[in-house]
Amino acid sequence: MKPHVAVLPSLGLGHLIPLFEFSKRLVLHHGLQVSFLIITTTTDDPSSSAANAQLLQPSNLPSDLHLVHLPSVDVDKVTNSEMQILTRICTITEESLRSLKSVLMDIGSPKALIVDLLSTQAFDVCRELSIPAYSFVTTPVSFFAFSLYFVELDRTVEGDLADLPEPIQVPGCSPVRIEDLLDQARIRNSDEYKWFLFHVSRWRLADGIFFNSWEDLETIPLKAIRENPFFKSVTPPVYTVGPVTKQEEQDESAAEYMSWLDEQPPNSVLFVALGSGGTLSGEQMIEFAWGLELSRQRFIWVVRKPTEVSSSGTFFNVGNDTNSPEEYLPEGFLEKTQGVGVVVPSWTSQVAVLRHPSTGGFISHCGWNSTLESIAHGVPMIAWPLYAEQKMNATVLAEDTGVAVKPEVKAGQMVVGRVEIARVVRMVMEGDEGDEIRRRVRELKETATKALGVSGSSYESVCRVVEEWKPLS
Ligand code: UDP
Repeated sequence: MKPHVAVLPSLGLGHLIPLFEFSKRLVLHHGLQVSFLIITTTTDDPSSSAANAQLLQPSNLPSDLHLVHLPSVDVDKVTNSEMQILTRICTITEESLRSLKSVLMDIGSPKALIVDLLSTQAFDVCRELSIPAYSFVTTPVSFFAFSLYFVELDRTVEGDLADLPEPIQVPGCSPVRIEDLLDQARIRNSDEYKWFLFHVSRWRLADGIFFNSWEDLETIPLKAIRENPFFKSVTPPVYTVGPVTKQEEQDESAAEYMSWLDEQPPNSVLFVALGSGGTLSGEQMIEFAWGLELSRQRFIWVVRKPTEVSSSGTFFNVGNDTNSPEEYLPEGFLEKTQGVGVVVPSWTSQVAVLRHPSTGGFISHCGWNSTLESIAHGVPMIAWPLYAEQKMNATVLAEDTGVAVKPEVKAGQMVVGRVEIARVVRMVMEGDEGDEIRRRVRELKETATKALGVSGSSYESVCRVVEEWKPLS
């Protein structure tokens, strides 16, 4: 009998995609059976989105990977329109996990449960059922380290972290600038802060931690996690298993853009996509468009209707927000960039674009999946962080990892101007200044391939854990 494990992603494509890919890997490369548990809801959330449906279509499933839908949560009953993004995700997840115990028993009590970072209530259920529980980290190790230390900061800092005068020195890691702090960690008196603290303070309860990263990418934070006395005292055993990224996919809707890409010279096209949720304000959209035009570079831009409400405007409706770019892009932009640029409303297959030889740069919101996909395909980035931990990621990618450039933004400046946008685009796509970034990302791509290969560090890490599960079966 093959060992049977269960995997439970929380809401959002940024969680679903890597846990799904990891599940496939456990089945195809390590001979396990996996039950993939899916949180479902009655209405508008990522689990009902078009992008989700595409990911989970039966043709994508190996035979030992089984989808199990948790009983549907009535979103209208448990949430309200005042809730911000993390509170909403965590509230729905908590409600859904009320059924977890019976679902785990129904599927025959698996040998282990793997959850991501926002489903830590599952640890209690697993303890009751004597099932080991693992966390799969969908962020960088550097953010995981910050978050463990955040529990300490919550105890020792008076007032709000947003008011600290100096960057936060996380043991063994690069300091975190206050302006880069994720919103959820800034102000104590908010539901967002409480949910964040609730989950991060429980990460230490896991039986093991899977990092979607590898030794050469995050050498310093990994060393801190393993060797620094603070982290050693609060971190379960860790396994680096990355990069776990979306594999090549069949996407009919991308065919038109792919044939345009086929006609472009190697490394000449800039790809612009801001994750599953990312949206720009109206004013920023205008500068962005004219900045691209001013750069005189070829581009593919995944566009979404601008909104002033939130920078994660499509998070709960990804891929469903059909929109007409001509209605909101600045007048004359589409005519002026015809032949040079392609505009794709709402969503395209990002991996298909990143892996294409014509793609030479990526404006990214620095979500961790997008970051890993970019590095795994050797594409240098321009960092355009919007929400969650993305500002922290952007600084690390630009200043420590050396695979991205950040536009210069003055304190208090809300909109990045077109001239600055054109400057960073040219720098990454063609300038001498971009040489080092391009070299570094190619170097990391090689190390990623090596880590994933048989006898590579990430492959071996997974083998070690799977061996631990085998004798139990
Ligand atoms: N993605 C995509 N097409 C798009 C936008 C995003 O395929 O037009 C995928 C992308 O490849 C990545 C995921 O959506 O796998 C986004 O995850 P990430 O962690 O980068 O950001 P999040 O959406 O969680 O903010």
